[in-house]
Amino acid sequence: MTAAGLYVHIPFCSSRCSYCDFATGLYQTGLAERYVRAVVTEIRSSHHTDRNVDTIYFGGGTPSLLSPSQLDRILFALHDRFEIDNSPEITLEINPGSVNSEKLREFQRLGVNRASFGAQTFEDAELAKLGRSHTAADTLKTFAELRSSGFDNVSFDLIAGLPGQTLARWQRNIDVALELQPEHLSFYLLEVHSGTPLAEHIRRGIQPVPDDDLAGVMYEWMLERASAAGYEHYEISNLCRPGFHSRHNVKYWTGAPYYGFGCSAHSYDGYTHRWSNHRDVLKYVELIEAGASPVVDEQQLSEVDVRAEAVFLGMRLMQGIDIRLYRESFGVDLRAEHGEDLDRFCKAGLIEFAGDQIRLTRTGALLSNEVFSAFV
Ligand code: SF4
Repeated sequence: MTAAGLYVHIPFCSSRCSYCDFATGLYQTGLAERYVRAVVTEIRSSHHTDRNVDTIYFGGGTPSLLSPSQLDRILFALHDRFEIDNSPEITLEINPGSVNSEKLREFQRLGVNRASFGAQTFEDAELAKLGRSHTAADTLKTFAELRSSGFDNVSFDLIAGLPGQTLARWQRNIDVALELQPEHLSFYLLEVHSGTPLAEHIRRGIQPVPDDDLAGVMYEWMLERASAAGYEHYEISNLCRPGFHSRHNVKYWTGAPYYGFGCSAHSYDGYTHRWSNHRDVLKYVELIEAGASPVVDEQQLSEVDVRAEAVFLGMRLMQGIDIRLYRESFGVDLRAEHGEDLDRFCKAGLIEFAGDQIRLTRTGALLSNEVFSAFV
């Protein structure tokens, strides 16, 4: 049976970034403590304890704002409730400037062995425009502290396609990131969500409209550069040194089960059942305190849904989908089921066939939404 992953959402940040539409708010000591208690209560009442677990992911928000003792209480509840592997991957999202060496060593003592580090860009002017709470110097300092505290599995988050960002500035960013030699790189194209301050700035002409074509050029340049530096492009937005793929995130793309705790957390039982929690922090806490369920959305997938997900999630991985395994799992021939679309994408150079694999090309990775829309 495939091992499950556990996700814990920590919805607090020290300031609000201008592009953010995640379920997060500003850190408040009292609310954070109530929230941790609520998460522990939710974990302790989970009915999904039948699966072996080998990854835990603390995402947010800025989970590194929690105190080590708060993280310890959540981890204790997870270990108490679930059958957790002897050497789980435990990831903590960490923002530059939100921790010091002492706190990092405490996190490591608790078993955190992977840091997902929100560098975003190494240009102070771009960080300021994004409303990030740190400078490039903070990023370098915290990264040095991560290393000196013993973190040997660090992933950088980087955003491309910022308003006004030039190719030369992006290239400098990538070169700085590669010089630091993180084990993993996650790369995002900026998305402008309506209702965010950034969307309003663009609407009022205070910031230029991001250039999607240029972002595509940035993407391709980054893949070339990082590949030449020894990174493997294993998922549309992710690269790693050999052996350092995110074990947790791969679960999302391969249909493995995962259980989420905290506001806005999503879960999947690995078969046909998906559900998610209330998005609002306070509402989530109040529901748990009242002994009610925080689940607000449940979905029962049909066989067709499950197959469609297997295709558009599986194709996110650059190794693609194994047609033989697909037939063994679902009793359906993928080529017969989606032959017309697959031929069309193949002719357009967006996908390719390699033995039993169907996979995105590099151009297809950039235009993946176009490919995936055929399977949704
Ligand atoms: S640090 Fe991340 S979660 Fe927090 S406000 Fe910024 S983008 Fe949103």
